[in-house]
Amino acid sequence: MATLSDGKLYIDGKLRDAAGGKTYDDIGPWTGEVIARAADASAEDMEEAIAAARRAFDETDWPTNPAKRRELVTKLVEKLKANRDRLAEIARHEVGSAPGATAMAQVDGPLGFIHRLFDIFDQIEWEKPMGDSTTFGLKTDRIVVKEPIGVVGVITPWNAPLYISIGKVIPALLVGCTVVIKPAPDTPLMSAIWGELADEVGLPAGVLNVVTGSDPALLGEMLTTDPRIDLISFTGSTGVGKRIMEKGSATLKRVFLELGGKSAAIVLEDTPDFAMTVAQSIVCFHAGQGCATITRLLVPRSRYEEAIAVLEQTYAYYATMWGNPDDPANVMGPLISARQRDRVMSYIESGKAEGARLLAGGNIAIDKGAGFFVEPTCFVDVTNDMKIAREEIFGPVLVVIPFEDDEDAIRIANDSDYGLSGAVRSGNPERALRIARRIRSGTISINGGLPINVDLPFGGYKQSGIGKEWGLEGFHEYLATKAIGVGIAA
Ligand code: NAD
Repeated sequence: MATLSDGKLYIDGKLRDAAGGKTYDDIGPWTGEVIARAADASAEDMEEAIAAARRAFDETDWPTNPAKRRELVTKLVEKLKANRDRLAEIARHEVGSAPGATAMAQVDGPLGFIHRLFDIFDQIEWEKPMGDSTTFGLKTDRIVVKEPIGVVGVITPWNAPLYISIGKVIPALLVGCTVVIKPAPDTPLMSAIWGELADEVGLPAGVLNVVTGSDPALLGEMLTTDPRIDLISFTGSTGVGKRIMEKGSATLKRVFLELGGKSAAIVLEDTPDFAMTVAQSIVCFHAGQGCATITRLLVPRSRYEEAIAVLEQTYAYYATMWGNPDDPANVMGPLISARQRDRVMSYIESGKAEGARLLAGGNIAIDKGAGFFVEPTCFVDVTNDMKIAREEIFGPVLVVIPFEDDEDAIRIANDSDYGLSGAVRSGNPERALRIARRIRSGTISINGGLPINVDLPFGGYKQSGIGKEWGLEGFHEYLATKAIGVGIAA
């Protein structure tokens, strides 16, 4: 059994226990055992964190001193990089990341491109002179300025906590906001480390606060309803995103929401490497716990049986290749929790009950021990009105749906409440691009291209979210716009 250092709160520049010394168990998904204890914050702790962040914004030079911010945030980034091995251990034991996933999206990916955020920060146009204008007889010199929005409540999920926190916290701090991080209860250590490193760097008190807790909603709702919070930057499920919007409306809170997905890949009949493309569609990376994971595979009716045969072979081959925590090539480990495992299993039962054909998997993998493992699972003969085609499962489950022609494929892909990501494959790039332009999603891949990167805006259409993370757009989420008119004497 692995043990990690216990997690503390970081509030108003102090690393400390929760009020009354309360802690809770941090459960490791590979084993189901306790791997550490984390501070279990109360409402009183969150109250202090919000007050500290507000003070740091209103009463210090943090929002107005870009040189100081750059220097300290650079140090914080260097600290994160220097702690790569510790972050990888937390990703492995707390997040349940397999080594191959740690090397990509969990740790090495975000630490590899984090420095590029400074280049994007440099592209912000802080002041735009608009020139003179005489309107209603008033001669005016005009300027449009950008300013930090204020105090940001950052609420994060458990699936890729380091990657997601970097995408929020670094832009927010660089532009001059102050931050309260409220991580998911399942992954407290991946956020507690931000507090430790901020303390080592000497960030001014209150600029960054980390408040972990076992209750999924209590601390987040405090952020969402508190008038001292100017923006909620949230990544998580669509259901909670809606709740945040609703709760935030009383103070007309600005909300930035990165939510769920049910993305479709359209593999056209002229795809040159058809079998390989279909085989690569299996949902296994991080056990399918990715918002942009493609979980609906749309294949042409004319090649449907061929696609099913390829998938049957691929799943049989892959069945022995996942779940090893020591294999550097392995990208699939357990689900985060018993709760999530049971949720995924209930979707599998629903797929069977609705008449989809289970081609592979479908079971809890008991041979892998007491962790939260579900086999890579594939349903065929799925129709797009089934629950397994409409709802986000967030587990290793692929559904396969046949289509008749391009129009039918576009219709099925767009017939979803979600619109986060997607993919088109074809031997004819113009045809693929024509289809991609008609898919209602925030990102889309053509022939294996990667539409997600530090300098590209990421975020959903429809019920997949509001706003964009990463790229210059990701910085603008943390800015407010002010128009200034200076009177010119006649
Ligand atoms: P979740 O919505 O259950 O929880 C996310 C966070 O919200 C947690 O910190 C949780 O404690 C907090 N929370 C819960 N109730 C709250 C409330 N009433 N008010 C304020 N905060 C509250 O999501 P999860 O299960 O942790 O993560 C999985 C979800 O995240 C999936 O739906 C996935 O698609 C989504 N996700 C989206 C993206 C994206 O960028 N679009 C990225 C990763 C994950």
